[in-house]
Amino acid sequence: MDAAGTIQQGDLLVCDDRILAIGAAVAPILAKLPLDARVTRFDAKGTLVLPGFIHGHIHLCQTLFRGLAEQSDLLLWLRERIWPLEMAHTEASMAASVRLGLCELVAGGVTCINDMGTVRHTDVVGDTLLDTGVRAVFGPALMDSGEGVPPGMLRPAAVSLDDTLAIAKRYHGAGGGRLQVSLAPRFILSCSEALWHDVAALSRERGMLVHTHVAEAPTEGAEVKGAVGCHATPYFEKHGVLSERFVGAHGVWLDEEEMGMMARANAALVHCPGSNMKLGSGWADVAAWKRHGIRCGIGSDGAACNNRLDTFAEMGLAAGINRVMHRDSPLPPRDIVALATCDGARALGLFDRIGSLEPGKQADIAVVDVATPRCAPFGADDPYTALVNGANSSDVVLTMAAGQVLYDWGDWKTMDPLKVVADARRQGLELLERARAAGTLR
Ligand SMILES: [Zn+2]
Repeated sequence: MDAAGTIQQGDLLVCDDRILAIGAAVAPILAKLPLDARVTRFDAKGTLVLPGFIHGHIHLCQTLFRGLAEQSDLLLWLRERIWPLEMAHTEASMAASVRLGLCELVAGGVTCINDMGTVRHTDVVGDTLLDTGVRAVFGPALMDSGEGVPPGMLRPAAVSLDDTLAIAKRYHGAGGGRLQVSLAPRFILSCSEALWHDVAALSRERGMLVHTHVAEAPTEGAEVKGAVGCHATPYFEKHGVLSERFVGAHGVWLDEEEMGMMARANAALVHCPGSNMKLGSGWADVAAWKRHGIRCGIGSDGAACNNRLDTFAEMGLAAGINRVMHRDSPLPPRDIVALATCDGARALGLFDRIGSLEPGKQADIAVVDVATPRCAPFGADDPYTALVNGANSSDVVLTMAAGQVLYDWGDWKTMDPLKVVADARRQGLELLERARAAGTLR
């Protein structure tokens, strides 16, 4: 996924957290190593070795809610289920939720996520990311106004921004540079104008990413217009929120003018096709985003609205939706894989470090077996098609982030999946009981 689109057969050499050499350059380096040098080898014959997948939009705090918020529309889904469930989190349930999501993600080749948390327990997210070895941009959700929010969830802007800065002080650059902290105002309907101003100013001063939701559902669009008198994008532009540090999830209902605003500001968008379809929100036009020159990635969104955290499923949906919208000029499969790799990295401003396999870049790698009945007989000959329309996440055989193996042929190196699933079940049931007792769950 480098700029030249190189595909080659050969070895890839990792040293510490970086890619040291690829192809013919590997053997001479190995030949010069002292005899007692410690070298670990992975046999990747018959596989595709590619940059680890990047999920541009996810809520790990919602993994425990998988299956608890079905058949809903975005605003009802938030008000009747998700916010009450988020408010019922304790530190223990948050850790179980984050771990469950990461367990699924690393087994599916994901090495980097852009996470929006809930309003509390973001330190638990940070600690779990540190333990499990996954690269991430993350931050607490900022919410200081709005309807249908459970008591205690809204926090004054000053308090939540102080909290974000304290989290940033603790985790920004942690894990050998793996972690980054973002400003994450939830969406227009839960943030005051003053909060958007503060977010824009802090982002400018500190270079922090602004991660939010934009133009996701038709009902939301109508409420946004009622609340602020215009669509989300002109509102963001007017208040200085759009910039090259802006990452907006969904963007289903952006018109041409709004896409122009996004492009002029060099803002980024994240396609969430599975979530958009499951919540009935609509179909985002990624080809139109690309035509405007908008940087774009892909994400699963949370497990409460997808319900898979599976890059292959998202790529397949993205390709299918694009084909239906642009029957005669569909995006090539490489462009779809790019959303989850190099373009996804560009959307998060991380392409200088990740998103392609090149010497000097971080060793964030996914290895996908394409010698399977699903991908045979020509999987290895047409890798992009195999990845988008053939393989699924069970075909990932190795996941490495920053040079650390996180998953190797069914063996999780930083998590015990049986324990993770059992904890999630126990914590999920207790959380549901707390939410019911609070009387906010509908
Ligand atoms: Zn979301």
